[in-house]
Amino acid sequence: MTNTAPITQDVLTIPRKLPEGPVNLVGLTRERLREVLIAHGTPEKQAKMRVNQIWQWIYQWGVRDFHAMTNLAKSYRAELADKFVIEIPEVVSKQVSADGTRKYLVRIAGGHEVEVVYIPETDRGTLCISSQVGCTLTCSFCHTGTQKLVRNLTAGEIIGQVMLARDDLNEWPKPGEAAGERPRLISNIVLMGMGEPLYNFENVRDAMKIAMDGEGISLSRRRITLSTSGVVPEIARTAEEIGCLLAVSFHATTDEVRDKLVPINKRWNIETLLGALRDYPRLSNSERITFEYVMLKDVNDSDADARRLVQLIRGIPAKINLIPFNEWPGAPHQRSDWDRIERFADIIYKAGYASPIRTPRGEDIMAACGQLKSATERARKSRAEIEAETRLG
Ligand code: SAH
Ligand code: SF4
Repeated sequence: MTNTAPITQDVLTIPRKLPEGPVNLVGLTRERLREVLIAHGTPEKQAKMRVNQIWQWIYQWGVRDFHAMTNLAKSYRAELADKFVIEIPEVVSKQVSADGTRKYLVRIAGGHEVEVVYIPETDRGTLCISSQVGCTLTCSFCHTGTQKLVRNLTAGEIIGQVMLARDDLNEWPKPGEAAGERPRLISNIVLMGMGEPLYNFENVRDAMKIAMDGEGISLSRRRITLSTSGVVPEIARTAEEIGCLLAVSFHATTDEVRDKLVPINKRWNIETLLGALRDYPRLSNSERITFEYVMLKDVNDSDADARRLVQLIRGIPAKINLIPFNEWPGAPHQRSDWDRIERFADIIYKAGYASPIRTPRGEDIMAACGQLKSATERARKSRAEIEAETRLG
């Protein structure tokens, strides 16, 4: 490899609360919500109960209008409406694929855009959400990687993607109705949209805590999968502080090839990554790790690769998800032939691992894995400007 450019995180965190205007309650943790209510005059003694009530309206029933929160006194509702807002990102457009997959283009503060995909299947409905606008990493096969990182999403913008999809699918229980009374359209969440979730750890964690909270959206931690390209120092933290399932974008069986496909490998190589993955099931008390492996013609799809792969992961409870490469304009790779993919899957299966081949979904609307890219481009900013923006928070 001649490319020795350092891999930088280059992250802008935007303020939770803009200096002017009312505070948005969406995305605040329970603790933070309590503090904010107290700071705005809610008596401390009542704060816990108010948090519970407001939380239930926002996350269990999807209500965004304080005046509809009928178990709060009218005067208190008016005070809340004065000081706070309940806002989620706006859907700019929605496309529905021939296979039922829905892709939402969503606008967030600052006019930036991200994409969210809903994939209905017979036994589940999966929502694929984004954690960043663009991505700082430049995996060769990924369309998002060609888009410069604009910024991290806030926790409110991350959980807001789940909320807007529930709006569109008309999935909120009616006020008073308990969660779980009707079948779930969104039964699973995958952090597999735009961005590297572990480069936006705190916001992703806070948003997923809201998704898992039993008095709200109430999804089990076993129904949330975070996919990382291999940000090793944050993997143990993911186990301890989120506890969701983990998927890792593995994609190659030698450092030489992985350096090219997933450049973060130059920072944390295969051996270091495997070390962190070995500890994950114990730390998170979860079952298998999903190894994602994109099938690229003549790059990583030989029988020798399949055999090396099973040797490398020996001892780690794992499932290997083979992803036929999804094309995008100007992509430097081709999808492996079907018989090659099947042969590769067979070698893995015979070695004792589940090796499902992921069916591409929503290809006709560019909604399949790795095809997401919004038009937002970041204007070049100086380091000083980036730091100044971060300080606003
Ligand atoms: N940044 C995270 C999550 C987003 S990508 C990560 O890299 O894991 C979700 C999955 O889609 C990853 O496994 C990614 O490697 C894969 N992917 C990216 N581009 C793809 C493409 N063009 N075809 C198929 N899979 C792709
Ligand atoms: Fe970023 Fe993941 Fe795409 Fe790599 S595969 S560029 S880490 S979004």
